[in-house]
Amino acid sequence: MSHDFHVVVPPKKIIVITAPSGAGKSTIVRKLIKQRIDLAFSISLTTRERREGEMDGKDYYFVTHNEFQQRVQRGDLVEHEEVYPGQHYGTLRSEIERIWSQRKIALFDMDVKGAENIKKAYGNDALVIFIAPPDKETLARRLENRNTESKDSLKKRIKKAEQELSYRDKADKVVVNDDFDIAFMNVKNVITNFLKKAEAHPAH
Ligand code: 5GP
Repeated sequence: MSHDFHVVVPPKKIIVITAPSGAGKSTIVRKLIKQRIDLAFSISLTTRERREGEMDGKDYYFVTHNEFQQRVQRGDLVEHEEVYPGQHYGTLRSEIERIWSQRKIALFDMDVKGAENIKKAYGNDALVIFIAPPDKETLARRLENRNTESKDSLKKRIKKAEQELSYRDKADKVVVNDDFDIAFMNVKNVITNFLKKAEAHPAH
């Protein structure tokens, strides 16, 4: 008697959520991780200070500038950026391997340059979703409302966020975050469609 086993192997895929800061991407990423067990958050390496409530090894791996440079030199990072002056962030190759070995899809929260580099490295195995604010004024207002920055730093962040808006044309998909619930539903649909296509045409 012969058995016909059909094993569905999850594809080795990457989903990148990117946006100018103030567009609401972290909230979307956090909610996705809670709801979808097929996704796992890729924990980045960073030199920035740990904020209250953050955990090393959960939100980020917090390291010194020296350690960060050593990891760069050893080739441990797939991409890295100085997102803000003196604050470096990078994606660990070992994180992607860890997540794929758990047969999950790697989910990233990163700046637009990092997203561009991941896309270059992984091509069709990566889906880049750009979360866009409804307009520039809303973006500036959201940054102001955070109230965590000095006036000078806020100005810089607003300017940077406006420049980052131009990345939207390079993303695979753009989701406008006007109403959060609608934006979240759209992001989930985009991911589901991408993974359906990946199952139909697995690259690995
Ligand atoms: P925060 O300091 O607010 O946690 O993050 C600052 C910015 O760095 C955010 O835009 C976040 O998406 C980005 N970021 C976090 N991890 C990485 C990473 O591994 N690579 C890159 N390029 N950017 C990252």
